[in-house]
Amino acid sequence: MSHEPSLLNSLASSVGTPFWLYDAAVIRQRIADIKELTNAPYLQARFAMKACPATAILREMAAAGIWIDAVSGNEVLRALQAGHAAGQEPPVICLTADVFRDNALEVIREHGVLPNIGSPGQIADLAAAGYRGKISLRVNPGFGHGHVNSCDTGGPSSKHGIWHSTLKATAVAAKAAGMQIVMLHAHIGSGPQFEELMANLNRLTDEFVSEIPGLPDLEAISLGGGIPHNYRDPNASVPLDRLKELLMAAQQKASAAAGRPVRLEIEPGRYYVAPSCTLVTRVTDVKHTEPNEKGDGATFAMVDAGFVDLVRPAMYGSWHGIEIVGRPADAPRVPIVVAGPLCESGDVFTRDDKELIQPRPLPLPIAGDLLTLRDAGAYGYAMSSNYNSIGKAPQLWLEPEGKVIQISRRETLEDILKAETCEIVKI
Ligand SMILES: *Cc1c(COP(=O)(O)O)cnc(C)c1O
Repeated sequence: MSHEPSLLNSLASSVGTPFWLYDAAVIRQRIADIKELTNAPYLQARFAMKACPATAILREMAAAGIWIDAVSGNEVLRALQAGHAAGQEPPVICLTADVFRDNALEVIREHGVLPNIGSPGQIADLAAAGYRGKISLRVNPGFGHGHVNSCDTGGPSSKHGIWHSTLKATAVAAKAAGMQIVMLHAHIGSGPQFEELMANLNRLTDEFVSEIPGLPDLEAISLGGGIPHNYRDPNASVPLDRLKELLMAAQQKASAAAGRPVRLEIEPGRYYVAPSCTLVTRVTDVKHTEPNEKGDGATFAMVDAGFVDLVRPAMYGSWHGIEIVGRPADAPRVPIVVAGPLCESGDVFTRDDKELIQPRPLPLPIAGDLLTLRDAGAYGYAMSSNYNSIGKAPQLWLEPEGKVIQISRRETLEDILKAETCEIVKI
């Protein structure tokens, strides 16, 4: 998403750099896409809110009737505060976790949230917390496909889910503890081919729905996330009509296996939000290293955003589109390394999963230019941190008529120190 240079410049003078700029029109379009995709009987979409849990985004989802997939007790509480309904019928909020920590069990018990468990021992955790209601089982179906290897969410090396051959035993334990299994869930990652989604469903229906005697309460099957976003090509589109056909076929197959209508759910995260947000940063300097005998040597554009803001390149080698604001598309380009302010040599935005620096052909910037990192809406602000005590950058929200709202301010040192105490711990 490209914005007018004059808008970015005036926002930079009012809130400073770096800042995040969400475009409400883009989010609403993506929500409309998913509404259309699930516009059929017994299809339901959730939002994997970990991708971008800002209240403004959660409100858009609530208004559109998109349900929530949360990961922690606090995520559930954020969704409730933003207007998502609590209560089990229908289970508007589910909490998907392989580990319950902090307030997760309490929130599940108090707010009627559907727990989607990914580790067999969580049955005992729920029972010990006095929970006796409906649950969902997250299955590791034995295969998966992330957008990079470290994001594989199924297969023998994935930490997620209940390994398929131990599912029956888990179902028996759940029944013995007085719980009803209302959903089977398998999230196999966000880079899969659609065919893999169907293989995923086939495994769920053929091996589990028809074979596990303890599934008389089954109401839904969830295929997880898995709608990719093409970060490299802003004009690429996902063939959602084909996916819709597949989801409808999957819903019918699941219903046939269960012997009654079963809801088919999906819970994308990145698809809704990835293209909606731009991280706007300022070039502070341009410097060079001279080639050594291996020929290394580079031009560095130093910017005031780092992996404390957008960690995806440093963490996964992810690619984000980069523009120098105000330069024409046909401006001559040279290989540039874009690097940030942190005391870490890996604080580089132009890299991949093998190379620490992967220069990008860009118009040569000068100090003072604004530089944008595109498609930063998913796992952007959500993964930002306070490393180096910098404080998180503000989030701005652009409405279609041009009004810009600040939805979070720049964090101060006071914010960072807020949780520090000097209290003697009772032992
Ligand atoms: C992360 C996650 C999602 C969303 O993945 P995206 O790639 O953002 O679509 C959905 N379901 C589960 C269980 C997840 O862990």
